[in-house]
Amino acid sequence: MARLKCKFCGKPAIERLKQYRLSLCENCFVSFYERQVERTLKRYKVVRKGERVLACVSGGKDSSAMLAALKKLSKNLDFSVEALHIDLGIKKDDYSKKSLEVAEKVCRMLDVELSIVDVSEYGVSIESFGRKKCAACGTVKRYVMNRFARENGFDCVSTGHSSDDIVAFFFRNWLSGNFDWSTKFLPRTEGFDKVVTRIRPLYFLSERENALYCVCSKIPFLSDSCPYSPDDEWKEIVYEIERRKPGFRRQFVTNLVKYLKENSEEKRGEFKYCKLCGEVTTSDVCAFCRLREKSGKRKKRDVP
Ligand code: SF4
Ligand code: ZN
Repeated sequence: MARLKCKFCGKPAIERLKQYRLSLCENCFVSFYERQVERTLKRYKVVRKGERVLACVSGGKDSSAMLAALKKLSKNLDFSVEALHIDLGIKKDDYSKKSLEVAEKVCRMLDVELSIVDVSEYGVSIESFGRKKCAACGTVKRYVMNRFARENGFDCVSTGHSSDDIVAFFFRNWLSGNFDWSTKFLPRTEGFDKVVTRIRPLYFLSERENALYCVCSKIPFLSDSCPYSPDDEWKEIVYEIERRKPGFRRQFVTNLVKYLKENSEEKRGEFKYCKLCGEVTTSDVCAFCRLREKSGKRKKRDVP
């Protein structure tokens, strides 16, 4: 089979990107990827001039790619970026230890300031949460990111959600009749009260593109999955549709944003403040504090 050549410079290509009908070499792929992120940031006004962005890095490919691309674009687009790693304290397979090591390495390499929050400081242990570890872990991560960002004066929290995540999330929720997610899952979700704005710069990029960007830019990432990571059937379905219909995922998220922007009103129901920690919630005690009580440990950090 004839060796594929890069569409832009003619050097040997490393990947055929079927959805764009493009073959690219390492260098041209890096520039292409960064242009895609830049386009998302500009077109959807994801980051505003002068904002301080807190990028949450787990050490995995998506968040490492997100941090590297944000750092690269920050100068021209006039925003600043720092990183937060949440140490989940997962001892199995040394997962949290390895994740932290990679996050530190990435930040050192990119010259990005890194803060580390250990969830045990909040009296929580992910491994104590029986079979519902992932649901609990999601609640803990959202709480810690938001509180850390607000208490440290950041304008927005950035996460490495990919188009695979968005499409799988859509299917999962839509088919279980949960339509309450819509305004929350855009490239930028404005904050309110004590809730900090959330941004998703990789909304239009796939997990494969994120991994390829890390490889081509020599950004380290942890390839081990979390030992508690469940089989995600919806992701498998998304991969299969994409395999059969290249470009499906990208087209899906592009039209999803269009639809959500035109059709969903910003519905913000009543909210209260958690009796125990003071954070925004819809019930008397927030989901995080309920988990912390279940975790059965004394809290070390508290809101006065
Ligand atoms: Fe947390 Fe691991 Fe579940 Fe991810 S897979 S949500 S890191 S417990
Ligand atoms: Zn609370």
